[in-house]
Amino acid sequence: MIVASRKNIKDLKEMLAQHKRILVLGCGTCVTVCLAGGEREVGMISSALRIAYKLDEEEHQIDELTIERQCENEFFEDAIEAVQSVDAVLSLACGAGVQATAERFPNTPVYAGLDTKFIGILQEQGIWTEKCAACGECVLGEYGGVCPITRCSKSLLNGPCGGAKNGKCEVSPDQDCGWQLIYDRLKAIGQLDRLEEIFSPHDWSKSHEGGCRKIVREDQRIVTKV
Ligand code: SF4
Ligand code: SF4
Repeated sequence: MIVASRKNIKDLKEMLAQHKRILVLGCGTCVTVCLAGGEREVGMISSALRIAYKLDEEEHQIDELTIERQCENEFFEDAIEAVQSVDAVLSLACGAGVQATAERFPNTPVYAGLDTKFIGILQEQGIWTEKCAACGECVLGEYGGVCPITRCSKSLLNGPCGGAKNGKCEVSPDQDCGWQLIYDRLKAIGQLDRLEEIFSPHDWSKSHEGGCRKIVREDQRIVTKV
């Protein structure tokens, strides 16, 4: 899932200061699961904003709504009336959802209420960790299912840097060495021979380094002929 975290209320209050009626718009998928932008957080942030404005004796109306997904156009049907009633939207979606909302409502200011962090998982209660950098050419199969790009701090593809201590990364001692994890995993599945292969540099042109990406599936497109 996409993992995000909430911006602080002081920053949100300042960001929205010029608007009198604001819709806090939640998203019911990834950011709900990572406890950043679902219905519960919409309620919490809305209440915090109301209190903050009241303490400063400022008049603002804060509306609340959560839709299933902000990154898919079909779900905006449920938000049209609410968005049309306000001066601005504070979107609690990931960066894709915020932009989709802005595209869907081109005449309404839309602000990001979250900082989108990474693609990751819930590692344990209250801790989310990055697992994928969406590099565009997945090499997990060659590394036993452990991503060298995200799990190794230096994204090394051909072995460790040599700085690990007790299985921990020299860049961040609270992080497992990605190459220790790759070695342990390949050993466990009987594929240590994979370590003898020398891999070519990663093709970063397929990542965001190559520019804004898109996928076109001709078999899925609906083309209207005129
Ligand atoms: S190799 Fe690339 S696509 Fe695969 S998990 Fe790592 S960053 Fe993600
Ligand atoms: S210690 Fe391990 S994870 Fe950290 S940079 Fe070196 S090889 Fe990568």
